[in-house]
Amino acid sequence: MDFRHPEFDTITGQKPSEDCAVIGITGTVPVFSSLVLGLKSLQHRGQESAGISLYNGGKIKLIKGPGLVSEVFGPETELPEAFADSSVGIGHTRYSTKGSKSSQNAGPFALSGAAGYFSVSHNGEITNAEDLRRDLKRRGVAFVTNSDTEVLLAEIARDISQRGVEDGLRYAMSRLKGAYSLALLINERLFAVRDPHGFRPLVIGKTKESFMVASESCTFDVLGGELIRDVLPGEVIELTPRSYRSLFRITGSISHCMFEYVYFARPDSIIDSAEVFRTRIELGRILAREHPVDADVVIPVPDSGRAQSLGFSEESGIKYSEGLIKNRYSGRTFIMPTQEGRVNAIRLKLNPIKSAIEGKRVVLVDDSIVRGNTIKRIVSILRKQGAKEVHVRIGSPMIVAPCYYGVDMKTRKDFIARDRTAREICKEVGADSLEYLSIDGLIRGIGMPSERLCKACLTGVYPEPIPEMEKVVQRELETY
Ligand code: SF4
Repeated sequence: MDFRHPEFDTITGQKPSEDCAVIGITGTVPVFSSLVLGLKSLQHRGQESAGISLYNGGKIKLIKGPGLVSEVFGPETELPEAFADSSVGIGHTRYSTKGSKSSQNAGPFALSGAAGYFSVSHNGEITNAEDLRRDLKRRGVAFVTNSDTEVLLAEIARDISQRGVEDGLRYAMSRLKGAYSLALLINERLFAVRDPHGFRPLVIGKTKESFMVASESCTFDVLGGELIRDVLPGEVIELTPRSYRSLFRITGSISHCMFEYVYFARPDSIIDSAEVFRTRIELGRILAREHPVDADVVIPVPDSGRAQSLGFSEESGIKYSEGLIKNRYSGRTFIMPTQEGRVNAIRLKLNPIKSAIEGKRVVLVDDSIVRGNTIKRIVSILRKQGAKEVHVRIGSPMIVAPCYYGVDMKTRKDFIARDRTAREICKEVGADSLEYLSIDGLIRGIGMPSERLCKACLTGVYPEPIPEMEKVVQRELETY
């Protein structure tokens, strides 16, 4: 079988290039501008590259490049005439979690096989990608990137070409391990595919002229559409311009990523039937009950700690106030690719409001601590502004273990909580007290049975074996 990558244009921005939001639309009208708008609504899930794949007249067109959606698809972006009226396409914004940060690894991916053109946008991470790559190479498949998404697409294309769409997808899903929420284009047909654990979110929605799949429901609001429902874990749905149908579902143990509720998803999204904002408010309420403190004001780390702060304030009766103003154009420190970049970004990012802080006993609330740089810096800012006391409250438990399912937390030595107690972390960040939400509190706040949530980065207990974990752990030990 010939797996050739179709020719694609890369409309590049100025920045160096660097996988995490997916969208797919099939409609009765051209979809390009809706794909761009939809990707902008998902920008928070990946800021290193953006891309769109369109199908028209028996051909596929990939346009992708490094940078924000607005940089890759700016006013000067010219869509080839042959694709201007494409009524089906998929899009992707990327934050690399596997594979290098090269522009070659930007999504979506596309290839041509015996069954036609295939293109995929992938959110998640394939944990047996290297085993599959070796196996596919033995069968004559050539790869041009080190991305797990390329492996996933090659596997799907090979299986569908040999077995047909439904049986091929079923077979491919039996081979793929790890996390994958997909918008998949097979010629003009659009599919939504979610791994049996349901690690990453995936929802379907509609407007008057189209049916859509996206990582989060906020996309449908932005496009003037409505949420229909979640793609169920292990489910494959085919979308057409006027309807959708569930092709099949592979059932297994469900493991929704708890981090989506804590931090990753937009607060205005509804994922797996839970509104993210309400969930975060509840996490803040539980945090206040678990770790009360005498204080004058609750100040959020903007924007990540805002909802949990509101919950903490509501429950404790302590006044809520904005005390730190965020420079909205500096990016999210969590997803900056280098340590140096992250430290510089914190400096650029926050400015205090003296009157909200001076002489006050402050409860500083954030949703999570990964490396600890941000919170340390903010505690220091608050002290310099005359805060009498600074009490840090974190709306999620300690992160102590790597994530292999699509969140960039790979290196244990990056976690401030890996070998420290809350008291030691408190000392390190210079706070008067520091407390985390308990795992039980997290589960109650999300309101989902514990066995349906992935909590591996909090417990080190993974919902499925990680085929390549031994190698990863070995590498980690070598660099520790
Ligand atoms: S390990 Fe943590 S971040 Fe990764 S999927 Fe599980 S809960 Fe989410």
